[in-house]
Amino acid sequence: MRPVWTIRRTVLLLLLGVSLAWLVVFQVLWVPRVTRVVITSHTEELQRELDVIIDAILPFLLSRQFGAITETLSSIETRNANWIGIELHDQTGRRLFPLEERVIAMGGSRIMIDQSIALRGSQFGSLKAVIDLTTTLDRVQAETRRLGLFTSVAVIIIMALLTVAIDRLVTRRVSVLAAAADRMKNGDFEARLPDPHPDELGRLTLSFDAMRRQIRRQTDALQSARIEAETALTAKSQFLARMSHEIRTPLNGVIPVAELLADTHLTDEQADHVDTIREAGTALLSIVDDILDLSKFEEGRLELNPAPYNLSDLVNGVVRILRVTAESKGLRLEVDIAPDLLGVYLIGDSDRLRQVLINLTGNAVKFTRTGSVCIKVARTICDTAREGLCISVIDTGIGIAEKDHARIFERFEQAEGGRNRRFGGSGLGLAIARSLIEAHGGQIRLTSEEGSGSRFDAMLPLNLATDIPQQVASETVLDSDLANGRALVVDDNATNRKIIAAMLRRLGYRTEKACDGAQALNMIMSERFDIVLMDMHMPEMDGLEATRHIRSLTGLRARTRIIALTASVLEEDMRRCQEAGMDGFLSKPVSRQALAAALRAS
Ligand code: ADP
Repeated sequence: MRPVWTIRRTVLLLLLGVSLAWLVVFQVLWVPRVTRVVITSHTEELQRELDVIIDAILPFLLSRQFGAITETLSSIETRNANWIGIELHDQTGRRLFPLEERVIAMGGSRIMIDQSIALRGSQFGSLKAVIDLTTTLDRVQAETRRLGLFTSVAVIIIMALLTVAIDRLVTRRVSVLAAAADRMKNGDFEARLPDPHPDELGRLTLSFDAMRRQIRRQTDALQSARIEAETALTAKSQFLARMSHEIRTPLNGVIPVAELLADTHLTDEQADHVDTIREAGTALLSIVDDILDLSKFEEGRLELNPAPYNLSDLVNGVVRILRVTAESKGLRLEVDIAPDLLGVYLIGDSDRLRQVLINLTGNAVKFTRTGSVCIKVARTICDTAREGLCISVIDTGIGIAEKDHARIFERFEQAEGGRNRRFGGSGLGLAIARSLIEAHGGQIRLTSEEGSGSRFDAMLPLNLATDIPQQVASETVLDSDLANGRALVVDDNATNRKIIAAMLRRLGYRTEKACDGAQALNMIMSERFDIVLMDMHMPEMDGLEATRHIRSLTGLRARTRIIALTASVLEEDMRRCQEAGMDGFLSKPVSRQALAAALRAS
């Protein structure tokens, strides 16, 4: 970036100013002063000359030789061109020279001296002389002005030379340094530096060069550290995605099978064991989900899907999920929604908000032995003075000591003391809940004391939906609601095929199975199916490719409903399924509830 005001320009202006000032000083002060000096010296000289003339004519005056006086004074007048006139009067005032009266104009550059003629105390008359200094003064003034001009030019030349010297020694080198600093700011460390002369700027150049090399080393180190960190982060998230996939796949053989088993005739003891299997599977699944969520937050990859949702449905849905657990502990699970919020539609990611609410309410139920858990929903004023929504989960449980308030919102942190060993948990839920609420533009507050219950307030901006959906899918889907149709289960894993087919049969479907995309495509071309449950990852032809083929067919077959089935829960996988033309997405392990909901929605 070029500076607007350069040193060169400053010096040039200075130069001009000094020269002008110098000229003004000469004109206004020096020329009149010199003129005054010249006039003074001429006056003194005239005085001296008049003294000499008086000495010369005094004898003639005393001896009354007026002819000699006239001759002497006339010759003086003619000899000095600038003498305008001499007048001699005797002591009575009678004019002795010149004999005729002359009028001599004064003013301008003329000076007059009237000298009395005396000898030993007696007056003999007076001698007056007028001289004109015009020529002398003109000459002196012209000379003075010439001197002024000459010195001005000399000053200009000296200062111009000085400017060039400053330019070479300072300005250019500083400009080169500044340009190098500018380029360094943009990551270019190769810019040319000025030659390091052994002066102050040379030292500055050397220091700048040393600093630049240091910054370069540090930048390189930071760059490689960043690349390493990014690689590690990518490796970590790949590892987590992989792990989640690998854990979810066998869980598909646990949770749904436990659900299927629970529907058969079992003894009480067997039913209890099946419940334990299902609960353990579900707990493991939620830990995998939490860890995946956290890694997404760390990478800044978590995306919200804001859409209109019914606030009351959301809260009641959470209550439905947790009511059985609460009641089994003898706790009252209450809901208190402000009347003006009943049935309103808000904009937000309802799945993620449900996740937060389940975590807060689940904790409240978990950490409360007697009493109640209440979900309270009311309007509030956010910090930003905007109207907001406050969802509070209030319990009468064991409470949280003040010192643990901040800590429990950190990852893997739980309140101190041995009590958590009793309740279990991973310490991830609140960290995720806080991140999700903050991602919605809100915040979570905790009010609690040890032994006297807890209150978690999730404050969110009140984003009222203007476009209310006509019909919102019900949270629970009854098996009988589903059409009796033909379903094709496509999965390379035989266990999965078996489980999904069994679940579909429970929901009233007749099922067929295919072990990869190509086989599924063949079957769809020759038979008609109402729904296809398509695994995403399969050898040979995967689910995405098979879907694209199906969508490119002609007639009704191209519109066959396809639901993706995958152990992945990544948003990009959901997007890929959507792009390939799938109608729904189910992540493994699949619960009967989720399968029914997907069948209904697609
Ligand atoms: P987890 O419940 O899996 O341990 P969370 O992050 O959800 O993980 O909670 C962190 C900790 O905060 C809990 O372990 C518990 O010590 C404390 N906590 C959370 N909610 C409550 C509550 N309602 N009452 C008492 N303690 C709670």
